[in-house]
Amino acid sequence: MNAPRTVLITGGNRGIGRSIAEEFIAQGHRVAVTVRSGQGPAGALSVVADVTDPASLDKAFAEVEEKLGAVEVLVANAGITRDTLLMRMTDEEFEDVINTNLNGVFRVLRRATKGMIKAKYGRVILIGSVVGLLGSAGQVNYSAAKSALVGMARSITRELGARGITANVVAPGFIDTDMTAALPEAQQDEYKKKIPAGRFAQPEEVAKVVAWLASDEASYISGAVIPVDGGLGMGH
Ligand code: NDP
Repeated sequence: MNAPRTVLITGGNRGIGRSIAEEFIAQGHRVAVTVRSGQGPAGALSVVADVTDPASLDKAFAEVEEKLGAVEVLVANAGITRDTLLMRMTDEEFEDVINTNLNGVFRVLRRATKGMIKAKYGRVILIGSVVGLLGSAGQVNYSAAKSALVGMARSITRELGARGITANVVAPGFIDTDMTAALPEAQQDEYKKKIPAGRFAQPEEVAKVVAWLASDEASYISGAVIPVDGGLGMGH
């Protein structure tokens, strides 16, 4: 059993983020999740924050630090899609996705790494996507943001690697959550044909990998992209 850590997951009220929180709780860690509405799972401290609103993030971090201690493991999970073809994509649809999925990650990262540098220990796990490196028709905004997370994790690795901090991207393929449930059924079937595993994954299959990356066993892994995609990206 690894020493208990203070873990913060953004977007922990549902989907992959909630499942990640449950996994860390099951492993005996001190877990906080950010929520815009609703609550995280039982056993997690739910703090209200929107990743597009820096003041709300500051408040949330202060509450976590006061109640659970400085954040040692950050999982930047909150994300949205605004899918449409390039020709039809409005500035707003592009900017909304970049502001949440990229700028939002920057904001939480900058705040979380302060404490990690002081403690000379930290684990940063960014939830990317298979489409960050594979590309995806109709997701110019989303895949641009997700591929940028790879550069971010690798830059943090170079900047902070000597201070006991690792930074990695977990790149899920298709996972059964509200995000994929929003896709038309015909499109879901079409995607399944392209996935070597022949199915979508359950959120827990992502959560286990995230928790492992935060464990002592993964202490020498940094700047990596770990696919959890049933073979869709062929390991990138
Ligand atoms: P869901 O749509 O089920 O959940 C998204 C979560 O992000 C919710 O908790 C949501 O909060 C939160 N969120 C969205 N915008 C903000 C914001 N501005 N501030 C704070 N929280 C916010 O998505 P998934 O669980 O499927 O996805 C989680 C992550 O995994 C995302 O980054 C996604 O891009 C990535 N991913 C998902 C894949 C999939 O197939 N499902 C595949 C690859 C990557 P609220 O409930 O308030 O809306």
